Amino acid sequence: MEKSNKNYIIAIDGCAATGKSVLAKGIAQKLNILYIDTGAMYRAAGVYFLEKGLELTEENIKRNIDSIDIRLAYEDNMTKVFLNNKDVTDKIRTSKASMAASDVSKFLPVREKLVELQRKMAENSNVVLEGRDIGTVVFPNATLKIFLSATADIRAIRRQRDLAKKGEIKDIDIIREELLKRDLQDSTRKESPLRKAEDAIEIDTTSLTNDETVDMVIELLKERVELS
Ligand code: C5P
Repeated sequence: MEKSNKNYIIAIDGCAATGKSVLAKGIAQKLNILYIDTGAMYRAAGVYFLEKGLELTEENIKRNIDSIDIRLAYEDNMTKVFLNNKDVTDKIRTSKASMAASDVSKFLPVREKLVELQRKMAENSNVVLEGRDIGTVVFPNATLKIFLSATADIRAIRRQRDLAKKGEIKDIDIIREELLKRDLQDSTRKESPLRKAEDAIEIDTTSLTNDETVDMVIELLKERVELS
């Protein structure tokens, strides 16, 4: 494979709770590159409609889309998420916000707005992005495309742990059900459904540690890019 010297883009897609965020963060830290959590942006858009108590209709989306400003900021080694200049970093991580993100992400005006922003943020940088449509729609020419998978059981355990850290205690069976519901909704929607790009490499993270997955992806990147 011929190696490139240009800026590189790593696209990480996959179902909910397959380990996309820890992987993307680990890669960004090791390579000292930009990390873009696109799910956080859809979550913030979902929170906007939740907080306003607005039903998700085409009409309400059209009427509100220009009033939604979403910004990611990088402070103290973490990504902070701002919705109309208000810090919603914690608020977007509840179960309610997860489903709200999936619900709002079906609408084309929302996707168009966020995809444009994602492309702009990634301009002229080495970058790792994680989401559902990065390898298929946002950056179909990404340098390296990874598609993560893991069993529903391990995903539910990981999500239960994440929620508990944030004070939300939830039954594992309900978590598993919600994850599967969200995956189904994400993969069957009309606009940019969740799917593996043809040229993506699938990694099953069920029995891998974070470090192992990070190392695996960096090795794959080295086959394509001259890392300095
Ligand atoms: O990755 P995360 O679980 O934070 O994403 C929340 C939701 O945002 C997903 O379930 C999906 O509906 C939506 N999303 C999307 N496209 C992306 C990233 C997330 O539609 N690129």
